[in-house]
Amino acid sequence: MAETHGLVIVNTGNGKGKTTAALGMGFRAWGQGLRVLVIQFIKGNWKYGELKAAEKLAPDFVIRQMGEGFVKHVKSDGTADHQGAAAEALQMARDEITSGKWDMIILDEINYAVKFGLVTVGECLELISLKPAGMHLVMTGRDAREEVIDRADLVTEMREIKHPYKQGIKAQKGVEF
Ligand code: ATP
Ligand code: MG
Repeated sequence: MAETHGLVIVNTGNGKGKTTAALGMGFRAWGQGLRVLVIQFIKGNWKYGELKAAEKLAPDFVIRQMGEGFVKHVKSDGTADHQGAAAEALQMARDEITSGKWDMIILDEINYAVKFGLVTVGECLELISLKPAGMHLVMTGRDAREEVIDRADLVTEMREIKHPYKQGIKAQKGVEF
């Protein structure tokens, strides 16, 4: 059988669906017997639907969240240490990418973490360069940097046509969380 060509995949744009498309791909991959890890780079992005689903798909579909071990990421003045949590998520990403344990790794909202200055674009490119040849690496979030897009094989921009929030419809279970 031909060697797997591990892809670098970017889901970006302002429309809804970047994370859910990545998770859908992870679900498909899991169904094919691949081992899938999701690292969520933005804390507070808790979506209980997908966490509960992942529990049922364990151990070959795992979601880890930045700021797990949350207490560690509170500064002495009581404010959240986003930079410390991002650094930990980044190190987790490095370790897991090079571990040989996973066939697909989804770095959810990493683009957003770059936008907020918590991760540098150079660190993103480093993660891509660490990727084993056969592993798929998915990066999601608005405003993906051009340097990352240049290195990717598959890039999709979600474009908003309508979003229920704009009509004042609140988040719906199963659609948003
Ligand atoms: P999803 O997790 O549903 O796939 P996403 O990953 O594309 O969404 P994010 O940029 O992660 O979107 O935004 C997170 C939240 O912002 C989601 O709850 C989503 O519904 C909401 N959102 C996304 N796009 C829009 C939009 N165009 N207008 C208003 N809210 C949006
Ligand atoms: Mg998202």
